[in-house]
Amino acid sequence: MKTKQILLDSRPKGTPTLETFKTETTELPELKAGEVLLQGLYYSVDPYMRGRMNDAKSYAAPFKVGEPIVGRTVAQVVKSQSPNLKTGDEVVGMFPWQEAFVASKDEVSKIDTSIAPASYYLSILGMTGLTAHLGLTIIGKPKAGETVVVSGAAGAVGMVVGQIAKIKGCRAVGIAGSDEKVRLLKEDFGFDEAINYKTTSNMQKAIAESCPDGVDVYFDNVGGEISDAVISNINFHARIPICGQISLYNSTEQPMGPRLQPLLLTRSALMQGFIIRNFSEQFQEAQKQLAQWVKEGKLKFTETTVQGFDQLPNAFLGLFTGDNVGKMVVKAK
Ligand code: NAP
Repeated sequence: MKTKQILLDSRPKGTPTLETFKTETTELPELKAGEVLLQGLYYSVDPYMRGRMNDAKSYAAPFKVGEPIVGRTVAQVVKSQSPNLKTGDEVVGMFPWQEAFVASKDEVSKIDTSIAPASYYLSILGMTGLTAHLGLTIIGKPKAGETVVVSGAAGAVGMVVGQIAKIKGCRAVGIAGSDEKVRLLKEDFGFDEAINYKTTSNMQKAIAESCPDGVDVYFDNVGGEISDAVISNINFHARIPICGQISLYNSTEQPMGPRLQPLLLTRSALMQGFIIRNFSEQFQEAQKQLAQWVKEGKLKFTETTVQGFDQLPNAFLGLFTGDNVGKMVVKAK
């Protein structure tokens, strides 16, 4: 059986383009015992994939040129050689960007679509929800009455961070890249304040005005000048979980900025980077909590769904131009 796949065609220098990718057809292997044939339903595109396009040492191995991009995908079992999986079951796992693929039973986890729609296992009940919840609570340690600022606030991680900050009794301030995102954060997702960084000339002042009591927790999704501006407003004993640095992922030169150590020193602040898998022991409990908040209507969520497997590269590139509100997902058909 033949299927379509999307490969990394070349390593991008700076911002990736459509030429970074190539679509080809490949032959699927015969099913062996313990394997399943899967049809992709929803594909996750994520900013971290940009890092894997570089030939550089990181927490995840680089993608290989000429081989398919690999990402988190919800798929349906089409044929099974495993007693635990039957045709029609929906599963999630790390799979190649292919319309259909063969996986071993150990590479898939069944999902329960009675709790939430299948695509939510790529976001609120999956990696980005866990990142928001565990990064904020374990490193940020928000306490009622404190001010939590989050950048990338209208994205998959950011919109969950702000809502959990509200659940914890904090003031939530979001930073995002359009007036419409600012409106959504305040009107639909319960943020107390939101700032459009693209139309604000003095971010340091705008943050000071939105955070009259200073910043106790800064959940950093973007890095760069936005983060410099937020960090200049931190309080004594502030906590800064470093989750992502998307504004720097396509940099071709070593980014320079203010030296932050004097400020961290004099405000006795904590800045800590994390990779979500550091917290894997807490995944099960955190996923249960997220599902509970979703069920209770305390945690709302939205997705930007791009239609069609062929659109995977476009959807990925859209993350760097802010095309998404909530999680960017590609629906196969
Ligand atoms: P996302 O926020 O849903 O999508 C990316 C968003 O980043 C875009 O919508 C865009 O929104 C914003 N952006 C793009 N370029 C920017 C720039 N130059 N300056 C400021 N904002 C920019 O993505 P996500 O999946 O939730 O991830 C958010 C961050 O968390 C990323 O940096 C990602 O790498 C990181 N992350 C880390 C972990 C971990 O384990 N540490 C896990 C998941 C994600 P605007 O319209 O607001 O510009």
